[in-house]
This record gives sequence, C-alpha cells and structure tokens, in this order.
Amino acid sequence: MSEIMIVRRLLPTLALLAQRVRANGCHDAAGKVITGLAQPEESFCTAGALGEETPTIELFRHKDPKTRGEAPYPFPPDRKYNTSGGPVSGKINVHLVPHTHDDTGWQVTVDQYFASEVFYVIDTVITTLAADPNRKFIYVETAFFARWWEQAPDEKRATATRLVQRRQLEFINGGWCMHDEASPLWTAMVDQTTRGHQFIFKHFGPEAAPKGTWQIDPFGHSNTQAWLLSAEAGMESLFWGRMDWQDRTMRYERKQGTNGFEWVWQGSRSLGSSAQTFAGNLFGRGAGGYSSWFSFEGSGAQVNDDPALFDYNVDQWVDKFVQNAREQASHTQDAEHQIWALGSDFQYQNADQPRSGIRVHADQWYRNLDKLIHYVNLNGSVNAFYSTPSLYVDQKKRWNGTYELRTDDIFPLADDSHNYWSGYFTSRPALKRQVRFATGVLASARQLEVVTQTTAKEVDRPSAKHAPVVGSSWTDSFEGTVGVATHHDGMSGTERQDVTDDYAMRISSSQKEVEAGIGLAVSKLLKLERGAVSHCHCHAADDCLNISVCAATTGKDAFTIAAWNPLAHSVSEVARIPVSGGRWSVTDGVGRAVPSQVVPLDERTKELPLLYLNSFGLSTRQVAEAKARLENKADHVLMVALESLPPVGLATFHAAADAESTVARAAPPPVDVAGEAAQAGEAAEAPAFAEAADTVVESDVFSLTFDGASGLLKSLTNKRSGATTALAISWGWYNSSVGEPRSECVFMCPDGTAGPIPVDTPWLPPVARHSDGRPMPNNWGKEVIAGHTWYTDSNGKEMVKRAGASLKDGEVEFMEPLNETMCGCNDIHAARRPSALAAGRKLQSGPAVFSFW
Ligand SMILES: [Zn+2]
Repeated sequence: MSEIMIVRRLLPTLALLAQRVRANGCHDAAGKVITGLAQPEESFCTAGALGEETPTIELFRHKDPKTRGEAPYPFPPDRKYNTSGGPVSGKINVHLVPHTHDDTGWQVTVDQYFASEVFYVIDTVITTLAADPNRKFIYVETAFFARWWEQAPDEKRATATRLVQRRQLEFINGGWCMHDEASPLWTAMVDQTTRGHQFIFKHFGPEAAPKGTWQIDPFGHSNTQAWLLSAEAGMESLFWGRMDWQDRTMRYERKQGTNGFEWVWQGSRSLGSSAQTFAGNLFGRGAGGYSSWFSFEGSGAQVNDDPALFDYNVDQWVDKFVQNAREQASHTQDAEHQIWALGSDFQYQNADQPRSGIRVHADQWYRNLDKLIHYVNLNGSVNAFYSTPSLYVDQKKRWNGTYELRTDDIFPLADDSHNYWSGYFTSRPALKRQVRFATGVLASARQLEVVTQTTAKEVDRPSAKHAPVVGSSWTDSFEGTVGVATHHDGMSGTERQDVTDDYAMRISSSQKEVEAGIGLAVSKLLKLERGAVSHCHCHAADDCLNISVCAATTGKDAFTIAAWNPLAHSVSEVARIPVSGGRWSVTDGVGRAVPSQVVPLDERTKELPLLYLNSFGLSTRQVAEAKARLENKADHVLMVALESLPPVGLATFHAAADAESTVARAAPPPVDVAGEAAQAGEAAEAPAFAEAADTVVESDVFSLTFDGASGLLKSLTNKRSGATTALAISWGWYNSSVGEPRSECVFMCPDGTAGPIPVDTPWLPPVARHSDGRPMPNNWGKEVIAGHTWYTDSNGKEMVKRAGASLKDGEVEFMEPLNETMCGCNDIHAARRPSALAAGRKLQSGPAVFSFW
C-alpha cells in the first residue's frame, strides 16, 4: 500500500545568534556593577543613586535650619502636580518616555513571565495612565499585550482602548516580540512583526499602527532592520538600547566627523534614500543601556518635596536633572530636544519580581515623575514633559540641520574590550534549526491554505495550548509560537534550558495542527481521502526525519513523496527518506526515472531513537519491550533528487523497493554503498576519505572545485571573468578561558590559544599533509587570516561589505588586536566598520589562505 509523505523545501539556512545584558559594560544582567572597566567605558556608567554627582547648589537640607528660610520648591497647595507641559521653543526639552522591557522568555518562560510579572505591568499601567491624561507609556511586545487582552474584563479593555485613542498608551515596535536582529531570517522577522501589528489593527484600528520601532535589547543591529523592518514596515524611527562601545566612544567624543547618537540610516544599497529611517542610540546610562540615570525601584531615593519630613531632596533632584539634561544636550544634534527612556526589564508592575525581590510599582514611577516634571519646570532651566518616541521624532523633523548618514551595521557588538557578543552565534543550535525549519513550514502552510481554501473548521485539530488568537486560521497558533521564539532571548540561545524546552514544545505542539492542515490541503490537491498524508517532523520517537526515523516510509515496499516548493521560482532539492532495504527506484509524477541513491544507516544513527528511553523503574522485560518499540525499522536512507520543483507548486515522486524496476534500466541503478559488500559477508568498512578525483560544482557564474582527498574547497573560478582563486582551508578551535571573562551563551572568550583540530579527529579528514601524503602534526600559533574584504548577507537579504580598517592618526581604532587574549571572533570584528576602511580589493586570480583558527 502506498502512503504519501510530505517533504517541504527548507529556506536557506541562516547563520547566527545572541544574549544578554551587559549594558554598555556597566552592569551585568542582575544590575551588579562590572568592575575593572576601561575609562571610556566607565564614562557611560554613571547611572545610579541620587548622590553620585556633586550638586551645583547648596542643598536645602544641608543649610542651617535657623537661617535657611522657606524650602526652594514648595509643593502645590492642592497637592496636584502640573504635568501638562509640552515642547517649548528655545529651551532644552526633555522627552520623558516611560517604558518597560518584557522578554518573551529568558530566565523563565513566556507564560511564566506573563503570569508572575507582565500581567501586572500592563494592568497597573493602564490604571495609572487613566488617573492622569498627561501621563504616557509605550508598549512593545504584543505577545504579552494579547495575553493581557484575553484575560482583561470588558471594562478594562475599554479603558485601554481609550488610552490608545488618546495616544497615552502607544504601541512602539508592536511586534509579537522584539526579535533578535542576528538570529532570524528576514521572513521570521516579517512574520512576527506582522502578527503583532495585525493584533493592533484588529483591536485598535490602523490609527494605532506603530510609528517607530524600539530595538533596545538585541545583540547587534542589522541593515535589514533599518530598511525592511523599519522604513518598509511604515515606521519612521528606530532606537537602539546599546551599541558597540568603541562606536559609542567615538560619537561621545565627536570624533571622525560624528556628532552625537542620532543619524539617518540607509540600510539598503539598492533602495537608498527611498527606504531610510531616523535612528539613534538611547543616551542610556541606566540598566540595560535602555533606561536613564535614575530609576524608582522601591528602595532607592524618592522625590521628597515635603519640608516637614526629613530628607527633603527635591532641590537635589532638580539640580541633577538639569545637569544631566545639559550634559546630554552637549552630545546631541538639535540640542533643543532629547529623549530619556525611563524603565527597564519588567518594570512598572504592581507585584513582587520573583527574580530580584524588588517591588517596582507603576504608581511609584509616575508619582515621582509627576513631581519631577512639576518642579523641573518650576525651576525653568530646562523643560520636561511626558512623551513618546513618535512625539520626539515629530520635533526632530522640525530641526533645520543635517544628520549623519549611516549605511553600516553593528555586528558583532562589543560591550567593552575583549567582550564580543559572539558566543550566541552558536549556542542552542537545535532550537535555531527548529525555528528556521518552522518558519519554512509556516510559509508553505499559508500558501496551501490559500490555494485550497482549507479552513480551521475543516482541519479540526486546534492546538491545546494555543498562542493568543489573532486570526482564524489553522496556522494562527503556529505563527504565534514561532513568533515568541524569534525573541532576542529565544532562538538566540541565551535563555535557560527549560525555557528552550518550552519554545521547542510549543512550536512542536502547534506544528501538529499545521501538519494536519497541510495534509488535508495536499489531499485536496491530489484528490485523495482525508488522512492519506503522513509527516515525519520529529513530534514523536518514531516520527523524525532528523534522526532518520519515519514510520510512514519504513517497513513499506512503496510510497509517494509529495514535495511542495514555496518559492516563486523552480528549485531542485535532495530528499533523504529512511527506508527498509537497500534497493529502491524512484519515478516522477509522469513515470520518468529520477536519480536516487541508497545509503546504509550506520549503527550509531540506528541507535538514536533509544535516547528516548528512560529505563528508570522499568523491569528488564519492560526495557526490552521499550527498546523493541523504539527500534528503528529503517536500515537505509533513500536519497532522491527532487528536480525542478514547480514554483509555488506540488510535485510527486513514487518510490518502490524493486531492484528490477524500469528505472534500473532507464537510468543508472541506485547505489548501495556498503550494503552489497555486507551481504557478501565482507566487512562494511567506511570509505573514510579515500583518494578520489576532484569534484566540481558549478552554477552559471561560479565553479567550485573540491579536493578529492579531503573534500575541502580548493579553488573558485568566476566563469564570467575567468578569474580563478586557489584556496587552502584548514579548521581549528579556540581554547576557552576559564576565568573572567569566560565563554558562555553571550560571549565567546578564548584564552588566547588556538590551534588546528588534531589530525586524528575522527569526524574530520586530515587538514594538512606533507608532500608525501603523510598527515602533518598538530601545530599551534597560526594567525587568523580571512582576507581583507569580504561580503556577508544581512538577515538573508542584501549583502554587506566588510573589510579591515585603515585608520588615520587620532581616529578611534575599531580593532580587536590580534595576538592578544581576546573575547570574540576577532577576524570578523576587524572588519566591522566598512565606512572607515581602506578601499577593498576585488577577488583576483591567485592564492588565498583561509585558516579558520
Ligand atoms: Zn530583552
């Protein structure tokens, strides 16, 4: 009996990733001050207690009580603070922007954060905003707001709606999460942003659409974020919470022609000014780099304006406020307007924070801010008022000046010397793979849904733990679960293991609903009965192509593969299908032979399903039964060339276990690499890197030659120019430091030593040989040499030019010195500022050396 199995084409694999918060080298994630920083780094770390700066005035409480007279700032007789101000021309205008930063998973899961903290953030902020029409607040992560919305009573929803209409509560960014800019392919970034905006449109109308974005905590910043996710997404501004410390130093000191922390960012070379955005790095100083110099977190100094009480300090607050406003103005173009972000992780809530034990109340923040606005404006040196990034940018647009134009990105990002956020590029690869794969499945499912008009009611397999509802589709929950995992502590890999498990579980759970929908849609297209289509996408021990297990194809003598191509152009792919038996042939939908190959499964791969076995408490008999249940019935993998899959279309391929099939006569027979030898009673030795002819792979433009002995790329030819570049590639490893800083999910911190992978590493061929063919011994001390100029893609979109720096005297050096103990991928870092670089070199004929260690 034939069964059909779906294979969908994966979108190209993405590089990547990221974590957390060492705020501009000042504080660690727990808020603890990091010691031992260089002077330029410390200059940005002056946030903290009220008394950390010397007042420019004699404080009222320090004066002689007998002669000091009345307090300088009497509180209003009616106890009502005047917060009604707005921009005043000719003054330094301080835009106070209350905000919270709510990670959709990090130390605990997204649902745990919501239940213990974020519900109270949103719920109490809404109550507090309603108490004063001048107060404002911005909210970013719609996955949390949607959870609150689903639990809020009608009356509270109506209050929220009024606040949004008055723009007291404004959605900024408005994505389902705040995605990491290093991690996702652009499609995942678009998907999760779109979902968040659709929620906003659905409940608050298009007039509530975010006007700006707010990427304050990702671990680098991409060009694609600037042009595609900001300008092309209809948002006119973009603010960061942190940037590379050397970049920040340069701008703080106004070197190399820079002038402050704001600029016009053109991220696309092809779209140029047609897709540019006003962008800036928050002046920062506070926790995470995305707060200001003060915070009202329970035990810190409050604004005390009652002279009848001890510790009257409003004069000190006003003095420090004015000092900081003037300092920021001196580092800001259009010095009349500056933005202060007020808030940090999970702040503005009316509940205990389980992580820190700190109580952070929305009304505590606003009561103190009300006072500051009242008294600062009473002082009159500067002008303060509640604002939002949108209102701030409205004022910036009125400035008659020219901003710097930037086209570069911020990768990798360094908090301070030897602290590069590069460890997250490789952490939790399984989750990265799952999110990438799920993004491709989601794209295919949406197409099949539209093409076949398949409804959720027809599919009838709702996800039990569904994401907050936005649409009515059977892809809705899947979109939501993939969406939260694109968060900058999600697929970046910087979260705890149990949070990683939570992402994996919720994606898998909702994917089952989507696979049911895909199965039904494909059945419709092929005019099959419901239930005729199976999948093997790793939701069960006997259902996982990733470990070469597939119940739908093993123990069968024939089955059909249905391959959906979601791309707008024809593609060819190779499918790997676990099968029983070593002789198979494959035909396409019209009976023509299709190239295929059969490869025996090695013993280790066959044992992988047994990793699901937990034998604790089981008897010997029960263990034997469980092993029998988990045993992989497949003994080979059938590799099929799925050629010329139609654009946005379906193709079928029929596989049959028939050695004498017509295929065998029409095309080269399937190849059983070791099976035949085994059947003949010979030892099935792995043909480990046997000498063979070179392999050439080519496209219309390039021809790549791989060495027959090592399998490594050895030369590249540009077929149009005729230029050939010889390549010698070797692979190595860094030795991780064991002290501080040390390698972890954020930072990759070698101890200064590196070397080639030993020649006896079983999974890698010898990388260097003597002229007589003998492997060369393990060596140490080679330099990283990765060329001077090269190009990388930005979230799978346009290419970004990178090259080593060539600096003039007095310029800030954007180089991590080689040959030092370093933290991070210094070969990449050395090239991270194309705007300050010597002219790049074109790829030319001649040798090049790429030593990846
Ligand atoms: Zn965050």
